[in-house]
Amino acid sequence: MIVLLPEAFAAVLPRLAHAALPGEACGLLVGRADQGCVRVTGFAPSRNLACAPDAFEIDAALQLALQRRLRNQGERVVGVWHSHPTGAARPSARDAEGAWQDDLVWLITAAGKTTAWLARGRGFAPLRLVVA
Ligand SMILES: [Zn+2]
Repeated sequence: MIVLLPEAFAAVLPRLAHAALPGEACGLLVGRADQGCVRVTGFAPSRNLACAPDAFEIDAALQLALQRRLRNQGERVVGVWHSHPTGAARPSARDAEGAWQDDLVWLITAAGKTTAWLARGRGFAPLRLVVA
């Protein structure tokens, strides 16, 4: 599966990650999922409500508001983004524990690089990320 990410969002993610140091930054991805392709059309940065510095927790109120706004719009929350201040741009054990929904796209930014993953069954499969 391919994730299409507009260049404007791809450029802003490392900047948000840097601004959140030493903690993790996070946000929600809005878009459309067609056959074999997830097209990201919107990005909503979230406060990180996690207590631990090496964790993230999306603001549930933001998620609810977003889902309400998207109702009947043909778009939905297709994924989640967060940063790894010190680790690699791949899901951590904590991410696997916290993966709350199958088939969500996870974008992870570390050291200026962003990668894409598909959450499934408490694990992650790598996805191809295309910035366009
Ligand atoms: Zn993580």
